[in-house]
Amino acid sequence: MGVDPGAQVQLRSTSSTGDHAMSQREDDLRSGIRAKILAGDLPKQDCRMTWYGGGTGGICVACDQPIAAGDTEVECDLPTGGTIRLHQRCYDIWAAEWPTCE
Ligand SMILES: [Zn+2]
Repeated sequence: MGVDPGAQVQLRSTSSTGDHAMSQREDDLRSGIRAKILAGDLPKQDCRMTWYGGGTGGICVACDQPIAAGDTEVECDLPTGGTIRLHQRCYDIWAAEWPTCE
């Protein structure tokens, strides 16, 4: 049989799949927060005022985990009244996600 040099060139793409365990956890957190926004458990409104401080052991409304003293706690006054408490990272995700949850 005729040998056809160069007909079969196998390209091995060495695509490195940069797996980051952190981004997976971030995705879980984000989808959990989105679910709460859509369910109405988290408000779809901007804070009237926010305070940043050390955690006081309160429960984060976004992820239901206690906010430890070493974490940054965001206390957020809602325009409709009421105050919610969340981790700073949860607050950042919530603030980024709720405007897209229409
Ligand atoms: Zn949280």
